[in-house]
Amino acid sequence: MPILTVNGKLKKEKLGVTLPHEHLFIDLRFSHSSPSNEFERQLLGKKVNIKNLKYLKVNPYSIKDNLLLSSKKDMRNELIEFKRAGGSTIVNQSAIGCGRFPARAFELSKTSSVNIVMGTGFYTKNTLPDSIIFSSEKKLLEKVLSEFHKGIGGTNIRPGIIGEVGIGATIEEWELKSLKITVKAQKETGMSIFVHIQAVPAVPGFKEELNGLEVINILEKNGADIERVVICHTDAKINIKYLKNILKTGAYIELEHFGKEFYINDKDFLMARDMERIEAVIEMINYGYIDKILISQDVCLKMDLTSYGGFGFVHILKNIVPILLKRGLRKEEIETILIRNPATILDINEKYL
Ligand SMILES: [Zn+2]
Repeated sequence: MPILTVNGKLKKEKLGVTLPHEHLFIDLRFSHSSPSNEFERQLLGKKVNIKNLKYLKVNPYSIKDNLLLSSKKDMRNELIEFKRAGGSTIVNQSAIGCGRFPARAFELSKTSSVNIVMGTGFYTKNTLPDSIIFSSEKKLLEKVLSEFHKGIGGTNIRPGIIGEVGIGATIEEWELKSLKITVKAQKETGMSIFVHIQAVPAVPGFKEELNGLEVINILEKNGADIERVVICHTDAKINIKYLKNILKTGAYIELEHFGKEFYINDKDFLMARDMERIEAVIEMINYGYIDKILISQDVCLKMDLTSYGGFGFVHILKNIVPILLKRGLRKEEIETILIRNPATILDINEKYL
């Protein structure tokens, strides 16, 4: 059974090492910090460069420019480096609302030889225009289905997943509508669902307790195939009980903040460290759920790119895999997480295609 990439159908066996949650282009400028003094006000309007990287490490939201990925050239270099390091496929989780640019993704795939999978469905409410928020469920479902059958935005590039579906700090009318549309779309297309759970305090109303289980409950009540649901952002802070509870429902846990160890000073929020992420992955393997673990890097900020001093897309391959091996994981186990699990979740039953 195949996987849908920007180049059309790809055999599951050909997927290779996959980062299941990244962004080629994304605009997160809506989530910038509110400056509290003149220095912060000036910082907000600066461009990201080596001189102000130190401010971003203690608050990635302090410079608006950091929250925008829009350069095709930058991204081509990152993808080429990923390919050289042994990478094969990237899932571009930019959904409707955060800027997808399918034609550019197609071009990037061609020039880098990296397979790219696109998403459909709706990102968080604050990224969407009223024309979508207040549109009927029927019309929005039609939009998602039309993207799946005909292609995104006038191209013939089809999405291969529904995601990342954006859930706010609390689940309200929009979230319920978006989740219902998501389930209906899954039933008609066989695509898997990736849900963005708000895990960092970049939006108003953020609560430390994450709503992943509440989302699973809603998806289940509406008839979703929970075995094809991924709960994203489970590793901004590690909570083992939360991870286990998600796994028990049959859904996947995605730890996709590898490489992100920053602090958000105005919110006093310290991200988990990579070593904690590694320990959590090993603990969940020992708990018996190796088949339901996905890892990635959620590249979505300029500071994540190698051209701005970040890890790019190669951090897991170059730095995390060697540690996992040292910690006793077998090569086959790493292949399960980096190759087989993404292939299973991205695979679409031929009857839908
Ligand atoms: Zn997200």
